[in-house]
Amino acid sequence: MSSRVSRSGMAVVALALAVVALSAREFRAMWRTDEIRPGPGVTRVGRLSDAQPALAGTPGDTAVYTLAAPPGAPPGGTALVLGGTHADEPAGYLAAVVLVETAIVTAGRLIVIPRANASGFTYNVPQEAHPQRFEVPTPRGPRVFTFGARATNPVHQWPDPQVYTHRGSGQALSGAETRNLNRAYPGRADGSLTERIAFAITLLVRDERVDLAIDLHEAAPEYPVVNTIVAHERATELAALVNVNLSGSGITIGLEPSPKTLHGLSHREWGDATPALAVLMETANPAQGRLRGRTDAGLVVTGRDRYFLAAARRRRLNVPFDENGWPLDLRVARHLAGVTQFVSDLGMFDESKGIAVTGVPAYEDIVANGVGAYLR
Ligand SMILES: [Zn+2]
Repeated sequence: MSSRVSRSGMAVVALALAVVALSAREFRAMWRTDEIRPGPGVTRVGRLSDAQPALAGTPGDTAVYTLAAPPGAPPGGTALVLGGTHADEPAGYLAAVVLVETAIVTAGRLIVIPRANASGFTYNVPQEAHPQRFEVPTPRGPRVFTFGARATNPVHQWPDPQVYTHRGSGQALSGAETRNLNRAYPGRADGSLTERIAFAITLLVRDERVDLAIDLHEAAPEYPVVNTIVAHERATELAALVNVNLSGSGITIGLEPSPKTLHGLSHREWGDATPALAVLMETANPAQGRLRGRTDAGLVVTGRDRYFLAAARRRRLNVPFDENGWPLDLRVARHLAGVTQFVSDLGMFDESKGIAVTGVPAYEDIVANGVGAYLR
C-alpha cells in the first residue's frame, strides 16, 4: 500500500516537474530579443544607455538606430520614431523595424527606437491570452516577432504601488500604470525602471536636438482614441497638414489635441520639456480590446474577428470594421505613410529642418505585397 502511494506520489511529482520545465522553457524563450537587420541607410547602431549611462545593463536598455545623410548632404532636421512603447501593439514596432531595414536618408537625420520599452517585450499578460510570437511571411521564409505586454515586466519592476503618482504633476493613476512608459514621461534619473527609460528618451530628444518626435501606437477598435494623430499644441499645424495630405492619398485619419491636463504621455511631456514637435499615431489593433474572440497569432496578423464585425454592425466601434478586418500589413502601411508624410512636411514650415527619406515602401505597395516583402 505505502509503496503504491509513494510510487503514484513520485509520478505526480515527476509530471509536475515536466510541466514546470516546459513552461519555464516557454517563459524564458521570450527573453530572446528579435533580430532586426539594419539596412543600407543605418549609419550607427547605439543604445539608449548612450543618452543615460545608468540604464546600461538594465532590462530597459534598447537599440537605437541612427540613419544620417552622408557627409556633404544638406544638414536638415532630426526626427525620432518610437515603436514598441507598448509591446502588445505590433504595427508600431514593425513599422519602426521596416524603417531601420529600408530607409535611406539623403538630408537630415532619422533616429529609430523599435522597442522603446524593451522590458515589455520579455513577457505577456496571461489573462490576455496573447500569443508570445507572430510570423510575418517573407519571400525567404517567415520572420518571427515577439508579441509582448503593454507595460514593463513586473519581474523587472515590483511591486506596484496602490496608486501611481506621476512626479511633477501629482496626477494619480491606478498602481499598474507605474509600469506604463507612456505615463512616465519626462521621467526621472533615480526613479523606477520605467521612469528611467522615459528619462533616457527625453534626454535623447533634447541632446540629439530632435525637431520632430513620433510615437507609434495601436489601440482597440472600440477605444475612443484610435486611427488618429494626437498632437502637442506646437505640432498642431504640422499635424493638420499631414492629416490633409494623408486624406489626399486615401488614408483617412483623425487629429486630436494632446490634452493639457493628461500627464506622463509622450506627446505632452516631450512637447513641454523639449523643443521637439511631439505627435503620436494610433492604428486599430483587433488583438487588443475587450470585444475580440479567439486571440492568437492569426488574429495579430490578419486582424479579422467576427465579434468585432458584429460589434461594428451594432455601431459599437470607433473605426470601420468589415470582413477584411484590420490586417497588420495595412496598419504598418498606415504608420509608415504617416511617418513619411510627417518627415517630408516638416520642411514645409522650416526649410532648414527638411529631412529627405527614400527607400521606405509605399502604402499601396505594402497593402498589395505585404510588409514581409520589404523586410531584409
Ligand atoms: Zn499604446
